[in-house]
Amino acid sequence: MTPIMLDRTTRTGKRAVAAIDIAQGTTIHHIRHYQIRHTPTYTSVQLSANLHIEELYLASLNHSCDPNVLINLETLELQAIRDIAVGEELSFFYPSTEWEMDAPFDCLCQSPRCLKRIAGAKYLSIETLSQYTLNRHICVQIFSSLAQASQFVQAA
Ligand SMILES: [Zn+2]
Repeated sequence: MTPIMLDRTTRTGKRAVAAIDIAQGTTIHHIRHYQIRHTPTYTSVQLSANLHIEELYLASLNHSCDPNVLINLETLELQAIRDIAVGEELSFFYPSTEWEMDAPFDCLCQSPRCLKRIAGAKYLSIETLSQYTLNRHICVQIFSSLAQASQFVQAA
């Protein structure tokens, strides 16, 4: 059973909360029943350069600049990246899966490391991104954008 409670009674509409205490490193949820999309939506998670998935639990995870879970798209698992207390909201770092977001927003996570504008990994510096665990397709996009930038410099 998934130790996640979905709370849709909040003003912002959705929230996923830990139903039990969860230790760092725990696989919280196996992502199995999802729909594949070719374009991003407000609640989709980017799987690769051109594919996005829609899934009930993932769609309920809000963003935090100081996240407590990681969506691991290699293993299709939701993993605790630190100890999480019962009742604590589960959140992930949207740019760890999203290169360019369908619906950018101003973050209100109140973390001291809050990045404010969240629009996807494409809009963050390498220095910022290096502080987070990112999925492979995001790393590939970073390397290809760096390669393009260096070609541009060489051509100039
Ligand atoms: Zn934030």
